[in-house]
Amino acid sequence: MSGVFLTLNAGSSSLKFAVFERDTTSAVPMISGKITGIGENAVFYARDSQGRALGADLPETLDASASHEQVIAMLLPWLENHQSFGSLVAVGHRVVHGGQNFTKPTRISDAVLQQLQTLSPLAPLHQPHNIAAIHAVAHWQPDLPQIACFDTSFHRTQDPLAQAFALPRDLTDEGILRYGFHGLSYDYIASVLPDHLGPEAEGRVMVAHLGNGASICAMKGRKSRATSMGFTALDGLMMGTRCGALDPGVVLYLMQAKAMDAPEIQDLLYNKSGLLGVSGISNDVQVLQDSADPHAADAIALFCYRAASTLAGLLPSIGGLDALVFTAGIGENSALIRQGICDRLAWLGVKLDAGANAANATRIDAADSRVKTLVLPTNEELTVANACRSFAF
Ligand code: ADP
Repeated sequence: MSGVFLTLNAGSSSLKFAVFERDTTSAVPMISGKITGIGENAVFYARDSQGRALGADLPETLDASASHEQVIAMLLPWLENHQSFGSLVAVGHRVVHGGQNFTKPTRISDAVLQQLQTLSPLAPLHQPHNIAAIHAVAHWQPDLPQIACFDTSFHRTQDPLAQAFALPRDLTDEGILRYGFHGLSYDYIASVLPDHLGPEAEGRVMVAHLGNGASICAMKGRKSRATSMGFTALDGLMMGTRCGALDPGVVLYLMQAKAMDAPEIQDLLYNKSGLLGVSGISNDVQVLQDSADPHAADAIALFCYRAASTLAGLLPSIGGLDALVFTAGIGENSALIRQGICDRLAWLGVKLDAGANAANATRIDAADSRVKTLVLPTNEELTVANACRSFAF
């Protein structure tokens, strides 16, 4: 058995993993899976490359209240004992924040780890979990190479204007900038654009990554020129439970008039807003689509309006629109939301083919649409595996 790379994506309450063979270019992992509900009621899912369920042996050993570290400590030996695992060559991690300095995948050393720790305050809900995963692997096999792949790196090609806030210069110099996120997803989509658009892939393309977290990236030459997320992953689009762009005066009002402190405001903006807050029902688009409650329809309508207006706000960075790509859980699966967004972009020449859209086809634009419109599944794990490959272990 040839060597394998393991990719880990440690979120706030979930851990996604995938195992890729070192010596093939297959986009399909040999094993993939996730553990959800970490810290509350952890549930384990794993499948092989044929989509067959694996891990029937695991749930009995999975402590419902296990921490990230405990989950990883359980997962790694399970993977190692799996017959198709092969010898582990390196572990690649999705790391949410690379600051200004990490512009490409980086081999993790003690010095790198220290720098990543200093960035934790910029992504308090994500970065500590990414770092915990790195520590857990190092504890298990101290000499195993680990690679950090950053969600911010893809956006370092943005124009300085697109990265700046209109704040006093010393704050900008200190690093209060629009970093942007979801870079591993955008990197993957950029890599497959030529397969679908040919030379037009180099043109003016908007990619809408619509999952629980959601953002839009304006690309030209398949590079990020501007993006909707900013200093944190809270900015831009309305999301599952995050508010997206907000008048900063609202935060001041919450502090001054409602006497809310920072942790309370953080919880409100990250966990209680977005689709969940507006609907009062759920952050899950499938639940909202099936609901007869008018507040569910309100939440979906606001999501679409905000996505279309944010996309329009990114247009000056690329000077127009040749193609629009939808990706991630909502982008890949919700015909209703794609239609709702595209209806508001009709003035730009976006027109969907209703049948193709309903079928989640790859090309969903109508024959007379000026803007090519696509649905492309993202593959952040492959971006991480390819980064490991680039180190030629
Ligand atoms: P995350 O950011 O957690 O990785 P995902 O990319 O998995 O999120 O997206 C989760 C979102 O995708 C949820 O709102 C879910 O409702 C939505 N989604 C998944 N499948 C469907 C579907 N078939 N129809 C509509 N929405 C869907």
